[in-house]
Amino acid sequence: MSENKDSQVVKFVYDFTEGNKNLKDLLGGKGANLAEMTNLGLPVPPGFTITTEACKVYLDSGEEPVALRDEVSSHLDALEKKMGKKLGQADNPLLVSVRSGAKFSMPGMMDTVLNIGLSDKSVQGLAKQAGDDRFAWDSYRRLIQMFGKTVLDVDGELFEDALEKAKEAKKVTVDTDLDAADLKKLVTRFKKIVKTEAGRDFPQDPREQMDLAINAVFESWNTDRAKLYRRQERIPGDLGTAVNVCSMVFGNLGPDSGTGVAFTRDPASGHQGVYGDYLQNAQGEDVVAGIRNTVPLAELEQIDKKSYDQLMQIMETLENHYKDLCDIEFTIERGQLWMLQTRVGKRTAGAAFRIATQLVDQGLIDEAEALQRVSGAQLAQLMFPRFDDEAKVDLLGRGIAASPGAAVGKAVFDSYTAIKWSRSGEKVILIRRETNPDDLDGMIACEGILTSRGGKTSHAAVVARGMGKTCVCGAEDLEVDTKRRRMTIGETIVEEGDVVSIDGSTGKVYLGEVPVVPSPVVEYFEGRMHAGADDADELVGAVHRIMAYADRVRRLRVRANADNAEDALRARRFGAQGIGLCRTEHMFLGDRRELVEKLILADTDGEREESLKLLLPLQKQDFVELFEAMDGLPVTVRLLDPPLHEFLPDITELSVRVALAESRKDNNENDLRLLQAVHRLHEQNPMLGLRGVRLGLVIPGLFTMQVRAIAEAAAERKNAKGDPRAEIMIPLVGTVQELEIVREEADQVIAEVEEQTGIKLKLAIGTMIELPRAALTAGQIAEAAQFFSFGTNDLTQTVWGFSRDDVEASFFTAYLEKGIFGVSPFETIDRDGVGSLVKSAVEAGRATRPDLKLGVCGEHGGDPESVHFFHEVGLDYVSCSPFRIPVARLEAGRAASTSQGSDHR
Ligand code: PEP
Ligand code: MG
Repeated sequence: MSENKDSQVVKFVYDFTEGNKNLKDLLGGKGANLAEMTNLGLPVPPGFTITTEACKVYLDSGEEPVALRDEVSSHLDALEKKMGKKLGQADNPLLVSVRSGAKFSMPGMMDTVLNIGLSDKSVQGLAKQAGDDRFAWDSYRRLIQMFGKTVLDVDGELFEDALEKAKEAKKVTVDTDLDAADLKKLVTRFKKIVKTEAGRDFPQDPREQMDLAINAVFESWNTDRAKLYRRQERIPGDLGTAVNVCSMVFGNLGPDSGTGVAFTRDPASGHQGVYGDYLQNAQGEDVVAGIRNTVPLAELEQIDKKSYDQLMQIMETLENHYKDLCDIEFTIERGQLWMLQTRVGKRTAGAAFRIATQLVDQGLIDEAEALQRVSGAQLAQLMFPRFDDEAKVDLLGRGIAASPGAAVGKAVFDSYTAIKWSRSGEKVILIRRETNPDDLDGMIACEGILTSRGGKTSHAAVVARGMGKTCVCGAEDLEVDTKRRRMTIGETIVEEGDVVSIDGSTGKVYLGEVPVVPSPVVEYFEGRMHAGADDADELVGAVHRIMAYADRVRRLRVRANADNAEDALRARRFGAQGIGLCRTEHMFLGDRRELVEKLILADTDGEREESLKLLLPLQKQDFVELFEAMDGLPVTVRLLDPPLHEFLPDITELSVRVALAESRKDNNENDLRLLQAVHRLHEQNPMLGLRGVRLGLVIPGLFTMQVRAIAEAAAERKNAKGDPRAEIMIPLVGTVQELEIVREEADQVIAEVEEQTGIKLKLAIGTMIELPRAALTAGQIAEAAQFFSFGTNDLTQTVWGFSRDDVEASFFTAYLEKGIFGVSPFETIDRDGVGSLVKSAVEAGRATRPDLKLGVCGEHGGDPESVHFFHEVGLDYVSCSPFRIPVARLEAGRAASTSQGSDHR
């Protein structure tokens, strides 16, 4: 223990008996759960955990905290006493594993060293003690190999090659055919490799081994692959990892030993049962690496009934204790079961919904907690299409359904090609014998992952599930030849570039492109499938229940960004409570562009009025349809926003056309005028130019025409006994004066229409807050606005000074790679910058006008994390594209739900 700046005692090491599952920040997930299991009285090999705080000190200063060694010494002393033997003791050595374990699981991303404590001397003691020379020498060579690679940075291939050579020399193919003498020779060879490559001897002092391994684990927090994984998974980069020092138990002591992984329920379907893999006579890493073929966990019942029964009981204890699906790593050492790890297990999106409702039914959790067990991202995944059952298919083979989804793409056999091809716009399926952490970039780039080896817990499966990417693994009929870039299945050869389709829900692999059909969850939202119907599956029922709960508890209303009746009707079916943004510019395209052109080219007021008059009935009809589709619900119509030149032909194309015509002496008067207009309206920075309210103030009659169309449409709907609830929204306001002028004109037009029709219209007028100045002067703007809708697309653009049309393609990848932000601020609201402006504008707006209605209609309105932010700052609604409405409803419910203490992120 040591004292920090504030003279508080800092404790860097916790015995497994001292921690608990709530200390994940400090002890990492693995350490916290090992402590929890220890406290539950489960058989956990004794050990201790070095905190993430120690790691942070090490990473910040390059040195361990001063007090760490002493603290480790006293915990090691206690461990040695408990075990009745000393670390590396010559005649009966205590061996330990040194494992990483961060707050959030990062499978295979950081380092582990097993069998610490073995040396030239203690290997003899271990042999005698275990009565097994082969085992002792195999353990020693594994230590030198792992230690060499992870602690001393020796190229792992050199050890692999030496191992291969030893097998070739003996004419055997599997490691287990090497005997003690062979392994002893291999140890000598490995030590030479270490000496040559690392320039030092493999350390014989067990404590030195342990200290170096601890530092190596600290350092592994910052390897490139760990950083990439964190960015992908949005895990903060400053958490650091804890280090678990645990007494070794051995699964490779003969046929009565083994190691396995298990889930308390099926992580793909959520169903209860016996799910997992077991590997006899092996160490833990062998299972996770998917290198040797495992047997299903159920077979353990035949192999070792006593351990099997005990394991089943422990699994039940864990489920009831954690009230959730747990995954487990265990080892059986000569008939004695040991728990090496447990955690709340990753699961597929579908299983998350099913498990949450199953646990409610079992009485283990309440509905509020169920809501925390699922996420909008998972719901979005369930809305992806799946393969059409009716389609004619060419089945190539079948593997394990490791991560659901329907993925189609060109076959590639290495990560490099996956990245290269996907960058050039190709969809690819990454096919490997098995994956390892070095494949991460390729796994991110591809549509889906297919492997010929490994089970549900192999690297490919675990990582793909984490990413929500389709994966089929262990498709053993496929002969994957990465060197020749092809795979063979019976007679069929699939070459690089051939299209394959993989179904992560069934494990089936097809040649060619299989057509896809909508997901049942979308069918449900569309109202084409009812949760209670006979053909509705369990998943639809679970989604229905959770959505109903989210709707009951959420405070935020959810509206849609929609500009036509079709989208509005879909949005309604998906649960929209109105339209938060109708972009009227979308109504000026197609055949009507000509009318807009006329308006722009008009030389006289008369000409301008003429074209506005032609546009009016068309606009009105659009609104009539929209108000009808959203009858009874609010519809926010935004007046024209983009610069007018967007409605004119491309400047280069037009110039060429005019030049060609001139050379033929065949001048087209209209084209010439158009070209002049294009030049006149051309802007260097159109996004900061003549658009939004500025347009309305400069082009006479444009906004009033739109307001008249809205008012007349509303009157018509009222006449037809409808219930139109139109709201008029002014874009890109920077100062209250702009709004006041437009408002005055609008009020006048509305009054005219009211008088003409004899119908009283209650049309609210409000503004977008999408410029920093608008946000900063929100208090003044609220004087003239009945509502604000935050345009976080433009607000992000203007707060950061990022051109929204350019930066994502030009330098965002570099920014993401450098960790400047973990996710694009156009995707998830930048809480500190843009978010703080939103927050202060909310406060200022409400201070002026307590009943000010507040919403958001930028892309962030449908982004899960941002929805939580908008809930927190007290908006009334979010508005997003129709397909994201269910996600926004769910996240709004999650944000409002007060459940605490969930293990879920
Ligand atoms: C915004 O800026 O956030 C917004 C919704 O408007 P648009 O995307 O149309 O500029
Ligand atoms: Mg905008």
